[in-house]
Amino acid sequence: MIISVASGKGGTGKTLVATSLALSLKGKGKVQLLDCDVEEPNAHIFLRSTTNQNQPVFLPVPKVDETKCTYCGKCAEVCAYNAIAVIKQKVLVFPELCHSCGACSYLCPESAISEEGREIGVVERDSLGNMEFIQGRLAIGEPMAPPIIREVKKHIDPTKEVIIDVSPGTSCPVIEAVKGSDFCLLVTEPTPFGLNDLALAVEVTRKLGISSGVVINRVGVGDEKVESYCHEQGIPILLKIPLDRDIATLYSKGIPLIEGKPEWHNTFLKLFQDIKKIVSANQAVE
Ligand code: SF4
Ligand code: SF4
Repeated sequence: MIISVASGKGGTGKTLVATSLALSLKGKGKVQLLDCDVEEPNAHIFLRSTTNQNQPVFLPVPKVDETKCTYCGKCAEVCAYNAIAVIKQKVLVFPELCHSCGACSYLCPESAISEEGREIGVVERDSLGNMEFIQGRLAIGEPMAPPIIREVKKHIDPTKEVIIDVSPGTSCPVIEAVKGSDFCLLVTEPTPFGLNDLALAVEVTRKLGISSGVVINRVGVGDEKVESYCHEQGIPILLKIPLDRDIATLYSKGIPLIEGKPEWHNTFLKLFQDIKKIVSANQAVE
């Protein structure tokens, strides 16, 4: 089963939930934790992982052979991302804008364009007993997270329980990380900002056809509107985590919740079982 852990809003405690869920399953069989928050992966801090196996990720970008080029401008014309420009007797390539669609090299009438790899980040792996940990890390200044996320997700082993830590927001990296999941856990907080971003994240999961449930973190900090919204929308609230100084202290020290407060271990196991029941019920309906 693949469970993605997302949050429309940043700073809601998504990584706290993802790591605690994965660690609670560690003694129950094989589990994978994938950190797909590739612009700022931080699950490794909680797992104390040194990620010893690294694999660079390359994107193909065009390389122009100007001895063949006639400066016809066809490549610039077909590029939807303005990643290639032809000016007088020069072809300029802007690798950071290139989406590696291959259209320019395919359509160049002189076959003057080949492709070369450009490193945009790395996939790092570690083995932590029964848990396999895989994280993507986008190189500083690189704009495109989805190709790194795709590389991380290639490591998914369908025989294992897979937890995916998704980046905050509702943009392309979130969609790339969440799609293909059996269930999406949405971590929010009971504030107006939390509610606004939760509603956006719910829309994304509905568009993707993935059922979702909610974890409300820092219960006590705001109002009841998140709960009312979930009831109105028929979205199950699967866990509430109180506003608690000890939990905040553990988080700030990079200590997983179920390690610092072992009494939470069974709560996260139950969370997993509840998700499993929902997924099984959905599969039975299909
Ligand atoms: S399409 Fe090919 S020949 Fe035309 S400008 Fe681009 S690289 Fe040169
Ligand atoms: S590969 Fe696609 S995105 Fe990149 S420069 Fe060529 S046409 Fe543009």
